[in-house]
Amino acid sequence: MPKKWVYLFDEVDLAEKRAKNWEGVRALLGGKGANLAEMTRIGVPVPPGFTITTEACNAYLAGGGKFPEGMWTQTLKALRAVEEKAGKRFGDPKNPLLVSCRSGAKFSMPGMMDTVLNIGLNDTTAEGMIRLTSDPRFVFDAYRRLVQMFGSVVMGVADEAFEEVLAGYRRRAGVSSDSDLTADDFKAITAEFQKIVRQQAKQNFPTDPMEQLSLAIEAVFKSWNGKRAIDYRNAAGIAHDLGTAVNIVTMVFGNMGKDSATGVAMTRNATTGEKEIEGDFLTNAQGEDVVAGIRTTRPIEDLGKELPKAYGQFERVARRLEKHYRNMQDVEFTIERGKLWMLQTRDGKRTAQAEVRIAVDMAEEGMITKREAVIRVKPEQVDFYLHPQFDPLARKRAEKIAAGLNVSPGAAVGMIAFDADTAEKWAKEQKRQVIMVRPETKPDDVHGMLAANGILTSKGGRTSHAALVARQFGKPAVVGVAALDIDLETRKMQVNGRALQEGEWISIDGTTGEVFAGQVPTIQPDVSDPYLIKLLSWADKFRRLEVWANADYPRDAERARRFGAQGIGLCRTEHMFFETERLPHVQKMILAKTEEEREEALKKLLPFQRADFEGLFRAMDGLPVIIRLIDPPMHEFLPAHDTLLQEVTELRITRRDKAELESKERMLAAVESMREANPMLGLRGVRLGIHIPELTKMQVRAIFEAACRCAKEGVDVHPEVMIPLTAHVNELKIQQTALEEVGRQVMKEQGIDVDYKFGTMIEIPRAALTADEIAEYAQFFSFGTNDLTQTTYGISRDDAESGFLMEYLEKKILPENPFASIDESGVGKLMEMAVRLGRKTRPDLEVGICGEHGGDPKSVWFCHKIGLNYVSCSPFRVPIARLAAAQAALGEANLDK
Ligand code: ADP
Ligand code: MG
Ligand code: MG
Repeated sequence: MPKKWVYLFDEVDLAEKRAKNWEGVRALLGGKGANLAEMTRIGVPVPPGFTITTEACNAYLAGGGKFPEGMWTQTLKALRAVEEKAGKRFGDPKNPLLVSCRSGAKFSMPGMMDTVLNIGLNDTTAEGMIRLTSDPRFVFDAYRRLVQMFGSVVMGVADEAFEEVLAGYRRRAGVSSDSDLTADDFKAITAEFQKIVRQQAKQNFPTDPMEQLSLAIEAVFKSWNGKRAIDYRNAAGIAHDLGTAVNIVTMVFGNMGKDSATGVAMTRNATTGEKEIEGDFLTNAQGEDVVAGIRTTRPIEDLGKELPKAYGQFERVARRLEKHYRNMQDVEFTIERGKLWMLQTRDGKRTAQAEVRIAVDMAEEGMITKREAVIRVKPEQVDFYLHPQFDPLARKRAEKIAAGLNVSPGAAVGMIAFDADTAEKWAKEQKRQVIMVRPETKPDDVHGMLAANGILTSKGGRTSHAALVARQFGKPAVVGVAALDIDLETRKMQVNGRALQEGEWISIDGTTGEVFAGQVPTIQPDVSDPYLIKLLSWADKFRRLEVWANADYPRDAERARRFGAQGIGLCRTEHMFFETERLPHVQKMILAKTEEEREEALKKLLPFQRADFEGLFRAMDGLPVIIRLIDPPMHEFLPAHDTLLQEVTELRITRRDKAELESKERMLAAVESMREANPMLGLRGVRLGIHIPELTKMQVRAIFEAACRCAKEGVDVHPEVMIPLTAHVNELKIQQTALEEVGRQVMKEQGIDVDYKFGTMIEIPRAALTADEIAEYAQFFSFGTNDLTQTTYGISRDDAESGFLMEYLEKKILPENPFASIDESGVGKLMEMAVRLGRKTRPDLEVGICGEHGGDPKSVWFCHKIGLNYVSCSPFRVPIARLAAAQAALGEANLDK
């Protein structure tokens, strides 16, 4: 017996038996066919029909354009069954059955393949239908549509020719819509269309219904390998060997008068997720009119007024479908003389906000479980809440001038400012909205970036300075806009033929990477969204991993806490050293010639640091706060060597200011003495603490003084002192022992004990390899995965990201950027080992991660897997990490089953 190529809509049980599961049914019958069959099974009104399988399509294409054996016989048999149900016969001059022939692959490929409606019409059957309906206008409208669609889809006639004819008739009749043309018009149009087909395709429009049907089926099969479809599959990552199914569906008519209509709808609002049907319809029209936009559609609420009975039925069906599919549905329907027919259903596309709300609502309605709700929302979608978005309508109208890399999500609008100082001045003093536009950014541009609403650069990649800082501070950013030419002299920029001056408005979308001219209006979503709060609170119940935040200032800590952070995993103390009133003291401390000078400078810095820490402890009352001791090389706090050299040379030549020259010369000598060939691997981290113990001792004193003071006020403090860049246990032994001594000393002075820990960052492979030894001292580990990735790979991120790393990614030498997602097989292996070895020595060792990876969902999953206690990330990514951690825990639970 030949294979079963054809399934009636009421044979879904057979398809399921053959395909084993629903995935398989969708693969066999295509998404559209599977759902038409499923709707039929659950009693939703679907016009009778059948599906020719994707296997038949593949066999047809493989067999060089011949229907596989048995397919046509099975098609005719299925057609007879459909005739039986419909009470009409295909090609019958008295009571003809008309059908549509619709493509439908496993995954929807909107607009990529074609559909032909009204198959079965010819001069004879048209006469029969006119006798039955007494509505020649309707019949000839349907007939001309068949010739038009068949002509373009099956016979390859360009659609414009048909449209021209229609336009001519509308003009002569003085009407603007096809629906205002008369029966005679349509009759004449049908004849003209047939003439066009004859001329252009050099073939007659086939009048035999059977021939129409078989040619239409072939055309749909072939459309799978059309250029449009292939390009789409390449872009969407859909496999090329799936094939498309063909659905033959009894025609129902929305164009049979005022009590007929056709429309599309979403069962919930796709933008907000609100529980209300959203859609468009037209009375007296056929399906494609709604999507084609030839007539202005009307909102679905009006249908309730116009055809209340049919609409009531539609609402019930919509609810039924949602319940059945346990998801929001996107449906097509037609009402023929008051009777509702469903023509398609599928899971609806929606915004992130709608996704969250629908997941929460459906869980509360009992349609899905909380666990499913938590799994359904993608962590990246949560990101949406944290950044403003462009108003979708306004964005459609906006003037797009360029596109670059979408490195930090959100929409930003502002006036172009070409440097950090201008950006800051405009924003702070003149309260202007600013977008900072630079070829690239550097650490000393940060003040401008913070003041700006968004950042746009012409150079740089996903890991560029601009991208990192933007993400850290939640600033929308588009980088690497190669077409952007910035002239800092004339304060002008050119992009794709468009010239803009400093001070003109632009809008950037960090979510998509688009750049627009002018001010595009924005809407501000936020984390106070009650649905998001609820979803995250459910997520918190499932996760095992804690989520902490990286925050240097009390205001960041407060925000982090509002977003749900359970601790501070990294407070970088050096940021505080850069502030204007502190930097001179820092420099004095570095340049000090004597112990006394150094002590003097450090004494000045102590109160600043203490105040910083007090603020943090108060903000994090009851939660742990990890403070990292000074990490970067000292020269970062001093003026740049090249600039100094230039200044000194100038002063020497002009001999203007002797005092100035002397002081600059001293500075230059100091800077020169501190110059290193590889500062990243030089005197920094714990090495610096050992080299200048007074500095880290001052920091620890400030930490403990702040903690004791807060504790006396009743704040519940848990300071954790973190020593960076340890490579050998002896480094920790020396440094930590000295610092613990200071801590104890302060507590004695203050007459109060606080709960504290000392620990280290694991960011050098040697530390990971000897973690058992390190854990003799460290009470906690925190993976600095940025440095650990650099040192494990032996590459400098700054050099790599602006150069060969991008090439590696393009050439697929590396599967992904190890600075974005943890390199599990390399860096990850070291982490796993460090956790294991560390806990062997100290079973209650607290282990976390404070690298940027802590906010990357994939890395969060990995951290869960290797048993970390927490991930720490930027405050803006805390909600994302909470969801990712829950999904990791639930994913693990699923794997167990
Ligand atoms: P697409 O995938 O491009 O939406 P469809 O196969 O769903 O293509 O059909 C295009 C339009 O024709 C839709 O509006 C659909 O509802 C309508 N349509 C398809 N088959 C029928 C039918 N048998 N009766 C009435 N309308 C139909
Ligand atoms: Mg459709
Ligand atoms: Mg580091």
